[in-house]
Amino acid sequence: MQPVFRFAPSPNGALHLGHAYSALLNFELAKRMNGRFLIRLEDIDVTRCTKERITQMLEDLHWLGLEWEEPILSQSSRFAAYHKKLQNLKDKGLIYPSHASRNDIKKAVLKAKEDKEKAAHHTWPNDPDGAPLYPRHLLHHKEDPTNQPDNMPPAWRLDMAKVLTKYPQLHTITWSDIGYNPDPEISIHNQRHMDPQQWGDVILSRKDCPTSYHLAVTLDDAIQDITHIVRGQDLFWATGLHRLLQHLFALPEPRYFHHQLFNNEKGEKLSKSRKDISLKALRDQNHSLDDIKAAIQLDAPNLHQLDHLIKKWSMS
Ligand code: GLU
Repeated sequence: MQPVFRFAPSPNGALHLGHAYSALLNFELAKRMNGRFLIRLEDIDVTRCTKERITQMLEDLHWLGLEWEEPILSQSSRFAAYHKKLQNLKDKGLIYPSHASRNDIKKAVLKAKEDKEKAAHHTWPNDPDGAPLYPRHLLHHKEDPTNQPDNMPPAWRLDMAKVLTKYPQLHTITWSDIGYNPDPEISIHNQRHMDPQQWGDVILSRKDCPTSYHLAVTLDDAIQDITHIVRGQDLFWATGLHRLLQHLFALPEPRYFHHQLFNNEKGEKLSKSRKDISLKALRDQNHSLDDIKAAIQLDAPNLHQLDHLIKKWSMS
């Protein structure tokens, strides 16, 4: 089977060195494996993903020397497809509506913490991204369809308990990853595993947008026949959730490589929202493409390292 790679940026800010690494790595791996290379625009947030940002992003990717297949898939053109799959989960009773706001959740979690303190436990669990798990038992009234305080449609959340009662084998979700390995306890060779309960009742469709990142990325990787997912290690734990959704929708299992992240001078992970220096700004300061490639160690003398990754895949 011909390998298919993708770089899937969200055009809600400017690309930085970390994106350049991810994009070039996918492109070079595809080339070396005689594979295909796609770009996908993850623009579900249609207000923040403006035309100007998309144009700038594509200009940056051209400047990096990437060539990709046209047409580019934009997630904003796929809302009807996401809706259909969501309906499928609704019909099975695996998702439920919730009108709870962030503030409602915050208040409920504070209350749960107080109750727990009385019971001598002092913590309320967070998901792997650091957000508190959704306290459904305290927010049942927010599932009432007549209770729509903000006149917005509800968010739809995965009923994790129901999913795991129906499919107990999904308590252990596995995937193959030749990169990041945060904990030897969850790894056997290139195999990683996690209990998806760590994510709790995640949102699959937002109040302000008829999908969520997790739902859209899982469905699109499948529809685009992506065989190898190469992305930053900040998305490592999300993979457990994506694999869970792949099981629920009977989708194929891609291979993963979660790669290193790049930090700014303060040692923080480069971020679009913090406005760390963009590729465009580096270009405007007269840095050449070779400078960029050397900075992220994807210049000619370093490219042979990719053969090592390819060999790992061939053996797993
Ligand atoms: N759109 C995501 C981002 O820009 C990446 C999604 C992925 O590679 O799965 O962070």
